Amino acid sequence: MREKLIFDISRKGRKGYSLSGNKFPELPLESILPSKFLRTTPAELPEVSESEVVRHFVRLSNLNYHVDKNMYPLGSCTMKYNPKINDYTCDLPGFSALHPLQPGATTQGALQLMYELAEMLREIAGMAAVTLQPAAGAHGELTGILLIKKYHESIGSKRHKLLVVDSAHGTNPASAALAGYEIVSVKGNADGRTDLDDLRSKLDGDVAALMLTNPNTIGLFEKEIQLISKMVHDNGSLLYMDGANMNALLGIARPGDMGFDVMHYNLHKTFAAPHGGGGPGSGPVGVSEKLLPFLPVPVIVKEGTTYKLSYDLPESIGRMMNFYGNFSVLVRAYTYIRMLGPDGLRRVSENAIINANYLLSLLLERYDLPYPKTVLHEFCLSGDRQKKASGVKTLDIAKRLLDYGFHAPTIYFPLIVSEALMIEPTETESKETLDVFAQALLAIADEAANNPALVLSAPVTTPVKRLDDAMASRQLNICCSL
Ligand SMILES: *Cc1c(COP(=O)(O)O)cnc(C)c1O
Repeated sequence: MREKLIFDISRKGRKGYSLSGNKFPELPLESILPSKFLRTTPAELPEVSESEVVRHFVRLSNLNYHVDKNMYPLGSCTMKYNPKINDYTCDLPGFSALHPLQPGATTQGALQLMYELAEMLREIAGMAAVTLQPAAGAHGELTGILLIKKYHESIGSKRHKLLVVDSAHGTNPASAALAGYEIVSVKGNADGRTDLDDLRSKLDGDVAALMLTNPNTIGLFEKEIQLISKMVHDNGSLLYMDGANMNALLGIARPGDMGFDVMHYNLHKTFAAPHGGGGPGSGPVGVSEKLLPFLPVPVIVKEGTTYKLSYDLPESIGRMMNFYGNFSVLVRAYTYIRMLGPDGLRRVSENAIINANYLLSLLLERYDLPYPKTVLHEFCLSGDRQKKASGVKTLDIAKRLLDYGFHAPTIYFPLIVSEALMIEPTETESKETLDVFAQALLAIADEAANNPALVLSAPVTTPVKRLDDAMASRQLNICCSL
């Protein structure tokens, strides 16, 4: 039987209704919208039964790969599970039905949540204040760099260079360029960390800041961070931290204590909001005392027991986002942090580190590891051995993993590792899952040695087989029938 799903708008006394099924007072539509904007004829919606709709979406989700299906080993991305309680809190009517232009008196709960989240993030990283506006890590970088620029302008310095380490994520130089800076690359040393001699030689009077990722993209902590901080500050420059790898530091070490002046957090990585597929992200920015006057407006202030949006910051860089940021992501991060508490957050990082080192220990014998054997939350293998022995490249290994039911890891990044396979298991995977993943990679190492043709033709079991990469990027077809 086909059910009629369309809303009968011709009926008198029709009501506004909420898509999320929340409980709102039902108001006649005419009282919400001017009648000239109301439809007079029903919208043409597909008429299908509930089971058809459900089956359609379950079928699509089966074709897809997602966090609820299996592990994502993507290094640098921290694709961990998204607790269902996060969706529950997001869906509370007081959050999901907010209008951004609602008066403050009716949005106190939302403002309190944002105020408290900023406070918790501030405390976690040891910064002086946090803005929640930026919509992604890269957007946080741009915000942070604009703050750095404004700081230098305020003291009359005209520095035009930003130093970026060569293992950095591509967004670092991109954000620096967007803010109008000349980018100078700093080399890594044989140990995989920042080369202090190279850094020293590049720190001149034109350098506005150094951008550093800590731990860096091969999972190594910058052991000399205090010395780096002193070198940078003695030069009159500022220190930026790309905080995408914060899930290695929670409750253990704080960027503010290391001397960073500005940093971004990726809530959709460290703090368990959905990630990828172009969905909303959130990249709050933390600053030290000297950058406080330049924060984006509005800032959330607490007066007595009341929360308020304040625009009273004359030197502000201005607004970085329409309204207040991606609010639903903020609710998720708040829920996650409150659910775990300080001890739980520390366990997050401890488990992320244990998981990465355990997985690495299982793979070490069959894959090359160009940098030290003890890492924090992620590691970077090289497929050089396989490429030399049988012509099987990292790309082929990644494609073959799909046949074993796993998403591919990050490959060919960072650029400093040839044939890079960059893996981050995250804290939320069990030992059993890590064992099965390691078995798959070990089996692929065997196949690469004994049956390279199989690996070179992978994937063979997925709905879409091996693509011609060049053609796919020029004649993208996202509607192929399956
Ligand atoms: C993900 C990531 C970024 C960019 O963050 P987005 O939220 O994707 O914009 C920057 N640096 C590193 C190291 C990252 O892993």
